[in-house]
Amino acid sequence: MSPLDFPRSVLVETTLRCPADCIFCPNKKITDRPIDMPWELFTKIVDDCRGKGVTEFHPFINGEPLASPYLEDSLDYISRNLPEAAVHIYTNGYLLDDSTASILLRCRNVREVHFSIDGFSKQVYEQHRRGLVYERVIANVRSFLDRLRHHPERIATRVVFTMTPDNEGEVTAFRRFWDGLVDMVDVLPCDGRGGEGRLPAFMDAQRLGCFQVTDRTYILSDGTVVLCCKDWAGYTALGNVKDESLQSIWNSPEYRRLRDDIGQGRIADCEVCRRCVSDKL
Ligand code: SF4
Ligand code: SF4
Repeated sequence: MSPLDFPRSVLVETTLRCPADCIFCPNKKITDRPIDMPWELFTKIVDDCRGKGVTEFHPFINGEPLASPYLEDSLDYISRNLPEAAVHIYTNGYLLDDSTASILLRCRNVREVHFSIDGFSKQVYEQHRRGLVYERVIANVRSFLDRLRHHPERIATRVVFTMTPDNEGEVTAFRRFWDGLVDMVDVLPCDGRGGEGRLPAFMDAQRLGCFQVTDRTYILSDGTVVLCCKDWAGYTALGNVKDESLQSIWNSPEYRRLRDDIGQGRIADCEVCRRCVSDKL
């Protein structure tokens, strides 16, 4: 198959704001880029994607997307300019009150909503999602799911449980609770965030395989394009969309070579990948 000349999925760090301080997340360590992606940069990225066959747009990398001060405007801009792109929202659910839920439901491009919930009991949940309140998150998510039943568009839902040694014992109860309430229940081992997360990877997270690079690209809040979501610090900087088009960055010899190498299992040249695959508890 010939390599894509434009990514199918585009992930954009619209904000680094987040009310949580999860035990495995590097979010609070990121201090060297804008807390919110400048609006002009965001619209430039969407403009770069126009007419290029982008099928998924994720306004999220290392922050809580619902905390973006321009959430509604950004969804509206995507709808108007990338009508074929499905928007995927990944949220911790804490800010998903009625008004934020209405913003998501008004955007016809929102096709999937993923809730990150790493525990079945209040105690274990709040130990992992520090700063959030279990009852509020569950109430918000259940209320959103109720509203979806009367929503004319199909929106897929998924809960994601990041598994660590301290919540592993709640997996069965968690699955039992959420099965049937959402479309998918995923339990994923904590991945260690490229060997530089606050927790090392749990079990063999890499057995899940590395499918992060061949058709998707990641853009940090300052416009830096990086190889993979594990590279939260921006070590693999492949270009900046402030200075050139996303298409020319994606097709640069360096980016192409990295995608090729990783697609064929050759990761030795990439320090982030080397740390990612060797990091285990
Ligand atoms: S994992 Fe998500 S919810 Fe938790 S601190 Fe990071 S960005 Fe916030
Ligand atoms: S091996 Fe590299 S590309 Fe794959 S998930 Fe890890 S850091 Fe990302």
